[in-house]
Amino acid sequence: MRCQTCGYSLFNLTQPTCPECGTGFHLHDFRFEPGTVAFACPFCQHLHGGQGELYTPSDSQTALCNACGREMDIDHMPVVVLASDPDKAEAVPAEGVPWESRRRNGRFRSLWATVKLCMNKPGAFGKRLAMTTRFNDGYWFSVWVQVPQTLAFAALIGLLMLIFFVIGSNASQGPGSGQSPLVVAAGLGIFAFYFVMMCVGLMIGPLIYAVVLGGAAHLFLSITGPKRGGFNLTAVSALYGTGPQLFAPLAIILMFVPCVGNVATMILPVWSLVSTICILKEAQRVSGLRASFAVLILPISMMVLGCLTFGLVMWAASSQSYGPHYSTPPATTPYFVPAQPPSAPPHSPIQSP
Ligand SMILES: [Zn+2]
Ligand SMILES: [Zn+2]
Repeated sequence: MRCQTCGYSLFNLTQPTCPECGTGFHLHDFRFEPGTVAFACPFCQHLHGGQGELYTPSDSQTALCNACGREMDIDHMPVVVLASDPDKAEAVPAEGVPWESRRRNGRFRSLWATVKLCMNKPGAFGKRLAMTTRFNDGYWFSVWVQVPQTLAFAALIGLLMLIFFVIGSNASQGPGSGQSPLVVAAGLGIFAFYFVMMCVGLMIGPLIYAVVLGGAAHLFLSITGPKRGGFNLTAVSALYGTGPQLFAPLAIILMFVPCVGNVATMILPVWSLVSTICILKEAQRVSGLRASFAVLILPISMMVLGCLTFGLVMWAASSQSYGPHYSTPPATTPYFVPAQPPSAPPHSPIQSP
């Protein structure tokens, strides 16, 4: 249970105001983990359990004390940690990210709701991220969001291999034509290898993305001023920002449409970056400019580095292929003279000029 503005712990308070920054709060702003906290009566300190979806003492603003019978304002009830591990008692904002309640509402419904929020209202998305948002949630969201494109790529490779095999068997018409079982098995083996590698990439990709992009963004935020949360919050913002990738199979289809293709493949990555900027801005409570630079610093520097490398390679290639032609005097390399006289005996050693 932390202040939504500054992250200060709000347990055991008799006043509904953050002692650190003075921001007021309501008990109904939070969703508590059942059994991990209790709510003390402001008059007799009797402990009450929670109820309902949010696990608060009452659905309304007031409740009657079981011990002294007085009417309590629930916002004035100190929240007492019961769990031996205080981290287990951490409450999340009442209106959390849909993906976080996927076990209650179903995985696919929660995934869809989260992707919609990420693409349409990334700012509101960022506000819902708690200080205690788990890395695991962001990671599994990013994995599931990229399942369709992994399957689409697998289908594409399978289709290409099938076409290759059909053409191959048609080309070798004649006695004993048709694919031998060995060739078919080899083809299936190659496909299985690709598929396994894609699955490994699917599992490792979001981790690398979170550490590399999140790391660069967090380093930038750390250097340039104050922010609300730690690296975890930045990494989770980056992972939730991958939401638009759910539509990647559409982009793969559009890739084959002339003219539209190049633009179509750019839409989703750009949308992802824009969403990530908006989520990070609200999650870390930083300015839009800082959030933009934090998220874009790595893609931009990689693009610049890529252009420089490309330029260097082109320069090296051109100086290698054209250099000798201009520098070598034409008289010393007469192409029409044989390198060795035809009369030389076959066993003679090669003579150097
Ligand atoms: Zn505060
Ligand atoms: Zn009481």
